[in-house]
Amino acid sequence: MSFDLIVKGGTLPDGTVADIGINGDRIAAIEPSIDAEAGRVVDASGNLVSQPFVDPHFHMDATLSYGLPRIASGTLLEGITLWGELKPVLTHEAVKERALAYCDWAVSMGLLAIRTHVDTGDDRLLAVEALLEVKKQIAPYIDLQLVAFPQDGLYRSPNARENIIRALDLGVDIVGGIPHFERTMSEGMRSVTELCEIAAKRGLMVDLHCDETDDPLSRHIEQLAYETKRLGLQGRVAGSHLTSMHSMDNYYVSKLLPLIAEAGVSAIPNPLINIMLQGRHDTYPKRRGMTRVPEMLKAGIRTGWGQDCVRSMVLPRHSRHARRRLHGIARRPDVLARGHAHLLQHGHQGQRRDHGARSSRPGRWQIRKPGGARCGQSDRGGALARRAALRRGEWEGRG
Ligand SMILES: [Zn+2]
Repeated sequence: MSFDLIVKGGTLPDGTVADIGINGDRIAAIEPSIDAEAGRVVDASGNLVSQPFVDPHFHMDATLSYGLPRIASGTLLEGITLWGELKPVLTHEAVKERALAYCDWAVSMGLLAIRTHVDTGDDRLLAVEALLEVKKQIAPYIDLQLVAFPQDGLYRSPNARENIIRALDLGVDIVGGIPHFERTMSEGMRSVTELCEIAAKRGLMVDLHCDETDDPLSRHIEQLAYETKRLGLQGRVAGSHLTSMHSMDNYYVSKLLPLIAEAGVSAIPNPLINIMLQGRHDTYPKRRGMTRVPEMLKAGIRTGWGQDCVRSMVLPRHSRHARRRLHGIARRPDVLARGHAHLLQHGHQGQRRDHGARSSRPGRWQIRKPGGARCGQSDRGGALARRAALRRGEWEGRG
């Protein structure tokens, strides 16, 4: 048997070393050693060969904008204010240029599937149009999903609803929202209902920024699970961030987690940003900003880590170098049904020191789900893996 391409001696995610034989766009063999003719042989000794990394939560319209319009302390509400100042002076070309620069970084790190929220609060829908163009341009290399995200709230901003509909009409894939930013808890609940109804009517997925607060009573995830079940959206809905869960009463969480699992709602924690943003009003004890990942996994809730930001107004210092430390490894639940995920979590010591916010929280932890899928076992993951192997050279020559 001969192959178009053999990737030799790479280490698979489960730690075994193997050769991978590829014909056309198919992974045809994964063996300890393949001795066969090949059009091309790539020596991957000493390197990890895996499914592409997947980032299920990002803000590509804000990426690489650190310093625009000015530098501030880095809290969430301040970041939203800064973004509001920047929006009117954004240009189509600048958004596109920064997004494409980020995509170069993503590809260089093996990140080939990204779900990005795009702010629909600007009546011009400038970022939406720019990222739709980016999506088209990078389609051969990166699977990019766009979420219509009303950053200023569905009810706090006069044209928010209309703009979401316009964005979806233009081709944005997913309905987003930010219930904890609405004026009242009940308006937040109402926004969850309305956004889920929009998605149900159009046959779309939902991904809401949900309870990204330190308030133990912020419980929009409960409403999201309820509406998912009521409208038959099981398997199509995700709640992002979910940080209020770190402060909720244990009894309440023991009821909540089975409801989330029953509704088939996925969870997308974004630990790198939330360990930086949450607990800023705490004296002691200082909360870590982490939602309950181990408990959610144990409850059978599909969970995938997102990156959220790189060098933006809410995560200023996050860098390409940091990504090299595997900060951004994540998986999107609907792409990789099985797999493994690692997360190395650092204390962002420099950042905290610079902002004078409080002492760092050093330490790191790793979560591994053993027995993950190998290259090619998942159709979608396999397809993306092939892109990783075959397209990287083309990307580098993208020009
Ligand atoms: Zn976000």
